[in-house]
Amino acid sequence: MTKTDYDLVIIGAGPAGLTAGIYAARARMNVLLLEKAVPGGQILVTDWIENYPGFPEGISGFDLAQKMKTQAEELGLKIETAEVHSLNLSSQIKEIVLKDRSITAKSLIIASGASPRQLGIGEDKFMGKGISFCATCDAPFFKEKTVVAVGGGDTAVQEAIYLTKFAKKVYLVHRRDELRATKILQERAFANDKIELVWDSVATGVEGFFGVEGVKVKNVKTNEEKTLKADGCFIWVGILPNTSFLNDAVKTDESGFILANEKMQASVPGVFAIGDVRNTPLRQVSTAVGDGAIAAVSAEHFIENI
Ligand code: NAP
Repeated sequence: MTKTDYDLVIIGAGPAGLTAGIYAARARMNVLLLEKAVPGGQILVTDWIENYPGFPEGISGFDLAQKMKTQAEELGLKIETAEVHSLNLSSQIKEIVLKDRSITAKSLIIASGASPRQLGIGEDKFMGKGISFCATCDAPFFKEKTVVAVGGGDTAVQEAIYLTKFAKKVYLVHRRDELRATKILQERAFANDKIELVWDSVATGVEGFFGVEGVKVKNVKTNEEKTLKADGCFIWVGILPNTSFLNDAVKTDESGFILANEKMQASVPGVFAIGDVRNTPLRQVSTAVGDGAIAAVSAEHFIENI
């Protein structure tokens, strides 16, 4: 095979990418991890992680990310801050195109994660002025105030509970009459006096001049519309894969999440997809690190056999 810059390039430094980096570094592969922002991924905006084995008291997302990054770097993993613009996967050598240069590799692991989905209710206008996707970042601004949280999944319920440490009241607006979140989170939300569930309802708009003053909601069963007076609106209605650089280079599902087999192998040989960007039945830190370990070993085997 023609010489390449690296044996392996990993895109994304969340728990999945960092774990792949740890395994690849221990296998003494010539590996580079690219991250466009700060290493850690979505756990950086997760206040407290209670379901990662080995931390019975829980651990802050920030601390867990730091520990993973430190472990990877101490093993010699090279992490570079760079955004991937596109990929050229048409030949055996994988080309990763950055802003100012291209990198070549024998194998590629895509661990670019996912980002919060928007509702189109004024996110652009009110971002930083009352609308937020990050309770860890913004909850302290809402001390003794009233906020709306939209969504019924793990993120919405977990973060709504976190918001009650600051806000005096949290409306949790969900489009059905049953939450999607895991049962232990549901139990805590139902037992929390500061949380008022607004069932069967969708957020349709935000009212306010300089900042959020209210959130318009519509009951999808009765069509009744009302405004919940609130100082903030947190939106947690699911995630979208971070794949703007992909340009159909590998196969995805209808929502854009990358299809991969049990070895994390995507539709192109030598290309692997892991963590939240992968079409997967469960998105957890524990599943992301499992994906990362499998992909690094798969990439090592792939390189040995070319
Ligand atoms: P999610 O599980 O996809 O839940 C999204 C929620 O938003 C659902 O309740 C959904 O309603 C609602 N929704 C979607 N589109 C909407 C719309 N247009 N209008 C109103 N509501 C809408 O997303 P997530 O909660 O962000 O979680 C993402 C992944 O991370 C999941 O796999 C989750 O398990 C995982 N996660 C785990 C933890 C944890 O273990 N503690 C914490 C955070 C995240 P329906 O229910 O009606 O579909």
